[in-house]
Amino acid sequence: MSPDDIRRALEFYQDLGIKSIYRRGSQLTAVPAPVAAEPEPILTFDDLPPMPPRTPRAAVPPPAPSPKKIELIPLAPADDSLDRIRTDIGDCKRCRLCEGRNKIVFGSGNEGSSLVFVGEGPGADEDASGLPFVGRAGQLLTQMIEGTALKENIAIKRPDVYICNVVKCRPPENRAPQPDEMEICGQFLFRQLSKIKPKAICALGSTAAKAVLGTKDGVTKLRGNWHKWRDIPVMVTYHPSYLLRPYNQNAKREAWEDLKKVLHFVYD
Ligand code: URA
Repeated sequence: MSPDDIRRALEFYQDLGIKSIYRRGSQLTAVPAPVAAEPEPILTFDDLPPMPPRTPRAAVPPPAPSPKKIELIPLAPADDSLDRIRTDIGDCKRCRLCEGRNKIVFGSGNEGSSLVFVGEGPGADEDASGLPFVGRAGQLLTQMIEGTALKENIAIKRPDVYICNVVKCRPPENRAPQPDEMEICGQFLFRQLSKIKPKAICALGSTAAKAVLGTKDGVTKLRGNWHKWRDIPVMVTYHPSYLLRPYNQNAKREAWEDLKKVLHFVYD
């Protein structure tokens, strides 16, 4: 097994709630069993069920450098508006993502919303429609928002919130956005957030968390607690695409808990 295979395997079994894995024959198997309680079986890799196949992110060759001259707008203009931000994006050629995109996906929803969701970047469905989160992950996001709101007696639907992404153009083969792409497009995300000035931001997945909080910490570490972007509280939770994987039941429960916290904070 390569180190990468081992890491994936460990993540997979952690998702199943298996916290301890011992290697047969190593000294760790000598951990004494609890005296009073029924001894827990010691699991080894050989005892575990086979991992389901995972669709890997396509291996993509390293991207070509972005065009040299990048126009960065350091501060939002005083009279900024979402229309103006969209106009400033224009037919954007600031980074290499323009090469494969069909439509720029700016954002959608209630522009005066108290809650903004930030995803990673458009996928194929979003690239075709020009709207964020309209594919399978988007349907799950809608269910998460509306299902949690209904259960918690909070009268909101998806159109009541605002949804956008860190990068506005689809990365090829759905690869993760590169740091320079996030930096270039991040200026527009930050202008969107400054203009809307929501009561809270929900960052979906590690790319959004990285862009909004500027941290390298992963979602598992960040989720469940409040952080800040400027003065605005930020909740990080799992990206809906991650929750669509069949063996992420635990993460699903945690995401619902995160969303409950967000909705009560914003709408109570
Ligand atoms: N994933 C995202 O991060 N954003 C979308 O808009 C769709 C899928």
